[in-house]
Amino acid sequence: MAKIDGIYAREILDSRGIPTLECALWLDTGAVVATSVPTGTSVGKYEAKELRDGDMERMLGKGVLNAANNINTVISKNLIGKDPTNQTELDQLLVDLDGTEDKSKLGSNAILAASQAVMKAGAISINVPLYYYIEQKYQLIQQLNIPSCIYTMINGGVHGADNLDIQEFQIIPASHINYSKSMDMAVTLFQKVEEILILKGATHSTGIVGGFTPNLYSNSDVFEILIETIKTSPYTFAQDLFFGIDVAAEQLFENGKYVLKDKSQPYTSEELLEFYKKIRSLYHVFCIEDPFQEDDLASWAKLTAELGETTKIIGDSFLATNKAKTQKAITEKTCNTVLIKPNQTGTISETIEVIKMAKEAKWQVIMSHRSGETNDDFIADFAVGIGADYTKFGPPNRGERVAKYNRLSQIEFEINQSNNEKSINTNPEKM
Ligand code: PEP
Ligand code: MG
Repeated sequence: MAKIDGIYAREILDSRGIPTLECALWLDTGAVVATSVPTGTSVGKYEAKELRDGDMERMLGKGVLNAANNINTVISKNLIGKDPTNQTELDQLLVDLDGTEDKSKLGSNAILAASQAVMKAGAISINVPLYYYIEQKYQLIQQLNIPSCIYTMINGGVHGADNLDIQEFQIIPASHINYSKSMDMAVTLFQKVEEILILKGATHSTGIVGGFTPNLYSNSDVFEILIETIKTSPYTFAQDLFFGIDVAAEQLFENGKYVLKDKSQPYTSEELLEFYKKIRSLYHVFCIEDPFQEDDLASWAKLTAELGETTKIIGDSFLATNKAKTQKAITEKTCNTVLIKPNQTGTISETIEVIKMAKEAKWQVIMSHRSGETNDDFIADFAVGIGADYTKFGPPNRGERVAKYNRLSQIEFEINQSNNEKSINTNPEKM
């Protein structure tokens, strides 16, 4: 049994140039793993709290030297000598060392960096790929598969350029389409949408997660542009692919109403619900993430009752990858799909508990990146290992997003190889 010999964290920069943590962990076998944690821009109020230095003389107060120090002192002292395959026990230790509800003492960033490092170390200690280690450990799936992908094409809101309000406009290849084909579709359409935006004279720079941020007149215009793009491709809209949106509605909520540029007056919750019904039927929008702000429970329940049969009503900031919030939403039927972001809760074990709860309720699970990412591809392995139904890793653009897609393609190759070997070994003619 391998033991943890040391753990050390440093401040690095995320894809937005904002500080985050990188953490190395080494075992007494000599094996070393490294991992880094993402951070968000549209951060919900119920998320666990990152520890930031607040020293305005340095990196605008956003440094994470104190969080790194927490790993290098108190966390390291408690993890050294432990077996890294005891993930649940070690995560509980991290939770206890912190001792707060919202992880604000050690910082959710420090806790997640340590928790992820332990998980990677567990896999390396028994010499198996990370996705396989997670699958074997938690047994949440019958068979390894690459999840379907939700690809962001256009960004607005706090991920955009202050013109469109909806944070993400996504394309979602039909679920029977395999990963390689779906990536072909995403790459083709991402390039083509740029051509169309140029033709229309719409500014086409990209936002912080890499989607285009055009200066279109209204949010609804985006669907028209995407449909026009699809018509120039080999794909058929509403057959090969569908649309999704992340409204991130908490960012649009002002004085009890939602401000969107599609209408001169702000939307009441009822009007916004009608808007969703309209775009659902007009544009086949079958994923709607964070349609209302976190405490507008009645509207969440109404939308789920009216559209939930055929539409994924997705809780991101609403559920904050939090067990109690997810349980409440299952009971109250306020949504039907969970978006998983481990740094919203802190440890991998707590994340797994939310996933289990969602799966037991027959909800679907989407594994998500954050807007401030690093090149770590941990979430690709995690998505496969826990059997996520979907991933949301951004567009096929920018190194930190593409790192996850490239890892999925490596895993797809390995799964296919292993399936081929199994079928050769079980083919009686070959025996
Ligand atoms: C999101 O809202 O789904 C998202 C990825 O954004 P952020 O990481 O900024 O919260
Ligand atoms: Mg979101």
